[in-house]
Amino acid sequence: MKNGSTIYIFIGPPGSGKGTLAQECVRELDWVALSTGALCRQHISQQTEIGKQIDLIIKSGKLISDVLVTSMVDEWLSKQVGKVRGIILDGYPRTEQQVMLLFDLLHTKYPDVHLRVVKFDISDDIVVNRLSGRLMCQNKECQAVYSTVPGAGLAPKKVNVCDRCSGTLMSRVDDKPEVIRDRLIVYHQHDPSRLFEQMGQSVEIIDANKPFNEILSDFIQLIERA
Ligand code: AMP
Repeated sequence: MKNGSTIYIFIGPPGSGKGTLAQECVRELDWVALSTGALCRQHISQQTEIGKQIDLIIKSGKLISDVLVTSMVDEWLSKQVGKVRGIILDGYPRTEQQVMLLFDLLHTKYPDVHLRVVKFDISDDIVVNRLSGRLMCQNKECQAVYSTVPGAGLAPKKVNVCDRCSGTLMSRVDDKPEVIRDRLIVYHQHDPSRLFEQMGQSVEIIDANKPFNEILSDFIQLIERA
């Protein structure tokens, strides 16, 4: 492993389990993960300048500017690369322009870092079903994700209470059915995996239609195949 760190890019629609898997890797493997969506929500709740700028965009399920999100990722990566073994980018890059900006950033600042791109394949119907039962901890420092969907194995121990920090669990404003459909359209329009392949970067596939514990064991096998 070059430079000590591997960056895993998680590509997949909302509800594909990538955020839950990222949280699990942070807890169990001592990796670090950046969810650009969670970072955006933190800016909004703290009413920063960026937060005020992006509030309405997030509520509508549209994407924020490529340059803005890349500068957030750049700042965060500068504190992580070389210090931890596994670094997950969850939900970035999400457009072809972001792929180009990320390649520039890695080429300029971290030419030796090992990059693996993991795509979570899942049907739109399963996404809609999963997100309709998704709950998120309202503590912005936590944002742990749970599910009330039977069989998902992600229910909180106490109804609407976060297992980790005792925060209140609620649905996300952008998990309303009509916004979910828009977010899926946006995801399919911008899916960056083809561009990664065109640029010679292989894309590894996880079957995300499966229950979470199977996704987890498939991912463990994937990382061992390094
Ligand atoms: P997520 O939590 O990943 O579903 O992201 C929630 C929202 O944050 C998205 O619908 C976008 O508005 C915004 N967002 C997160 N990541 C990105 C990104 N890479 N590019 C543009 N917008 C993003």
